[in-house]
Amino acid sequence: MNRECSLYDDLEKVLISAEEIQDAVRRLGERVSLDYAGRAPVFVCILKGAAVFFSDLMREVSLPLTTDFMAISSYGSSTKTSGVVRILKDLDHDVLDKDVLVVEDIVDSGLTLSYIKKVLHERGARSVRLATLLDKPVRRRTELEVDYACFRIPNEFVVGYGLDYQEKYRNLPLIGVLHPRIYMEEA
Ligand code: 5GP
Repeated sequence: MNRECSLYDDLEKVLISAEEIQDAVRRLGERVSLDYAGRAPVFVCILKGAAVFFSDLMREVSLPLTTDFMAISSYGSSTKTSGVVRILKDLDHDVLDKDVLVVEDIVDSGLTLSYIKKVLHERGARSVRLATLLDKPVRRRTELEVDYACFRIPNEFVVGYGLDYQEKYRNLPLIGVLHPRIYMEEA
């Protein structure tokens, strides 16, 4: 994408470049391929934020995987979590006896993934592991084991590579810190 695109003007800084993301996703794909060798996991994409990461990651994985999609609401349009998790779109397929890898864009409080993990275990999944592009460990409000995380980041509101603010910025190829002036206008 052309750097002169106006979306870049709304960033305070670039946190992770497109090249760094590509490298990390490739390495994660190799690791997942080894860890799940001989198995056919179900990759579950948490919409919409994880869609870009999910589509890149699965193409780096050399396994006969299948895909499914789930949409969760926990934030509304704000930059702060409401702490309430709700399934807006459920999986199309049963996960009974399946090895499930949940693919998320970012783990913040951890409430969303704890909830999803619990639901998938209750439905009889054989195993449930979590993969995230970004992890903000200082914000954790629940105990949660994240099995795969590409990057640990500080407590800043980020956009790009699938992550949005009010549905914008998902198409940026990198991860950037959104300039506070953008969401201060909301307050
Ligand atoms: P958690 O339940 O872990 O608090 O929240 C995870 C969800 O919060 C993510 O899927 C994402 O939608 C949203 N979120 C948390 N931090 C950020 C951030 O820095 N930027 C954006 N765009 N979304 C975030």
